[in-house]
Amino acid sequence: MTNIPEAPYNYCDYRCEKCPWTEHCRVYQQEMSERLLLEAEGIDPDTWEGTLEVVHRNFEKVREMLEKDAERFGIDLSGPLEPVPEPPETELEKRAFECGLRLHELGKKISQSDEYLQLQEILEETYQDLMWNHLLFAVKLKRAMHGFWDYENETDEDFRAAGLSDGIKSAGVSIRAMETNREALGIFAVKIPPLAEEIQREIRELAEIQEKLETVVSTHRK
Ligand code: SF4
Repeated sequence: MTNIPEAPYNYCDYRCEKCPWTEHCRVYQQEMSERLLLEAEGIDPDTWEGTLEVVHRNFEKVREMLEKDAERFGIDLSGPLEPVPEPPETELEKRAFECGLRLHELGKKISQSDEYLQLQEILEETYQDLMWNHLLFAVKLKRAMHGFWDYENETDEDFRAAGLSDGIKSAGVSIRAMETNREALGIFAVKIPPLAEEIQREIRELAEIQEKLETVVSTHRK
């Protein structure tokens, strides 16, 4: 596999260690070079200090790019900027975030259960899958709804197309994350009987959210 199918910012789940495109991904390459740079400066990239330094440097880069483009297009940045309209939060987004937060608490219960501690070696990877995806699905669902909203409310054709693409690709990541969550929870439901009922409830909730998101996607694919 040599080509990344879409721009990583809306296609991927950012789980680089499991990704087949690291060699060709600019996001990954940039992150690796930032890490090396930090290490060369004596800053550990895996600490809060390192993380904040990366965020700071990325903001700087974005600011420089914006200033360059503003100059190029004759935009005056000294005056107040026009407010960007924000899409209203949908019921589906709220539901997804509430589910994600419950999964966060459920994850804690799972990791503290006797059954998990006894089988940790076998269940560790499944637990990592759940931890990675339990909120990601909600974040990507929000981004998907935002993209669809842009598509419906934009007048510029290029922005409309970008909104639609962002909506569909982000929804795809959200759906894959929900499937991974359900798979992981299905395993925990079997291995941790005291939590089975609660886990099954969340599996059903994820399935319903997924179904609703798939309906939104299919109405935009027509
Ligand atoms: S390498 Fe990482 S950032 Fe790039 S597409 Fe894969 S998961 Fe996404």
